[in-house]
Amino acid sequence: MTGNNYDDWRRRSPFYGETHEALSSSVRAFIAREATPHVEAWEEAGIVPRAFHEKAGAAGLLGLGFPEQLGGTAEGIDSFHKLVLVDETARCGSGGVQSGLFTHAVAMPLLIEHGDPDLAASVAPRILAGLDILAIAITEPSGGSDVAALKTGVRREGDTFIVNGSKTFISNGMRADWFVTAVRTGGPGMGGISMLLIPGDSPGLTRTSLKKMGWHAGDTATLHFDDVRVPVHHLLGQENKGFKPILRNFNWERIQAAQQCTAFARIAHEEAVDWANQRETFGQKLGSHPVIRSKLADMKRRIDTTQASVDLNTWQFDQGLDSASDIALLKVQATRMFEQVLREAAQVLGGASFIRGTLTERIYREVRVVAIGGGSEEILLDLAGRQLGYGAS
Ligand SMILES: Cc1cc2nc3c(=O)[nH]c(=O)nc-3n(C[C@H](O)[C@H](O)[C@H](O)COP(=O)(O)OP(=O)(O)OC[C@H]3O[C@@H](n4cnc5c(N)ncnc54)[C@H](O)[C@@H]3O)c2cc1C
Repeated sequence: MTGNNYDDWRRRSPFYGETHEALSSSVRAFIAREATPHVEAWEEAGIVPRAFHEKAGAAGLLGLGFPEQLGGTAEGIDSFHKLVLVDETARCGSGGVQSGLFTHAVAMPLLIEHGDPDLAASVAPRILAGLDILAIAITEPSGGSDVAALKTGVRREGDTFIVNGSKTFISNGMRADWFVTAVRTGGPGMGGISMLLIPGDSPGLTRTSLKKMGWHAGDTATLHFDDVRVPVHHLLGQENKGFKPILRNFNWERIQAAQQCTAFARIAHEEAVDWANQRETFGQKLGSHPVIRSKLADMKRRIDTTQASVDLNTWQFDQGLDSASDIALLKVQATRMFEQVLREAAQVLGGASFIRGTLTERIYREVRVVAIGGGSEEILLDLAGRQLGYGAS
């Protein structure tokens, strides 16, 4: 008994029931069998193998929450099942595995909800089966925070859009077969933005791999579009009306990112508790020194209060009661909690936390990206402040 029951938060929560527990068990077994033994090799290679995508597809991980007719599993699935999926796939301790496996979770809703149904029907099943990879390409070399200022331009020739420009920091950018891409079809600002589904094998699309601080098992790339021709029926939603769906889509991405933070923080906390229970300093268990015991309790305080906020925002999301400012604040809370907890876990582990081989060392490398991607802390706090009317009068 470590006094650190990883599953406590779910088992004593009104938001989770038997189906969530059943999902948790099956994903945990899948990850323990198919991912955890290979994570170090994938991190070294900088890639999650396609064969793993296929196994995840066959196990139903990629289709969770997506329509049955596209190869997904929707019946009886709520957003808490998706949190369980995030939580359990984090158990292998690699954000790169998650980013490698799940870029479609952010991109697919834009395709399904806004794309031509025939287009979605022809593309989505292979993605949910893990045979193809779908990525999302919004950020540009000139900046990612100001989405309304994006520049990748499109001109129309008959039934074809011709795309010129560049995207960067794109997860799965080297391998993706499809990109949900934000482009400029109209004038400046948010009113000129559209979404296009661009095939990865389009002539004129080239990719450059980027080396990173963390997320080593996931690939990240810059994309270059040089007169890339895309059929007009690949437009997702209405022309020049892409900005709002992109923003709306961020809400769920941010909740999932917050869950990723609590999951990884919980793993590091668990490792710290186990370490403190075994290690002896000054003739007694490390964890029995009041400073370390308080540290461990304080880490749990931060994780549990953040998880409570993740769960409440998720419930509100499912009820249609969600608030973009609350979700923005949640993500900031989660990324700051994550950073603090990882710092403290590393302190408890001491020098071992700096040496390759502990989960804490690996997860520490994943901290920075979540505080920046999908809405940085500065941008989200400002968004919340503006939505709440601070400084308006
Ligand atoms: C590993 C990784 C994977 C990613 N995957 C994807 C992906 O799959 N698809 C995708 O589209 N994007 C992806 N991104 C991009 C990510 O969303 C952007 O990095 C993020 O939106 C910030 O954009 P930027 O890096 O260009 O920073 P900038 O917009 O240049 O901002 C730089 C810094 O200044 C701050 N800042 C900017 N403006 C203001 C202001 N007005 N007030 C105060 N502070 C400000 C920001 O908070 C940030 O800290 C990924 C990034 C990384 C690192």
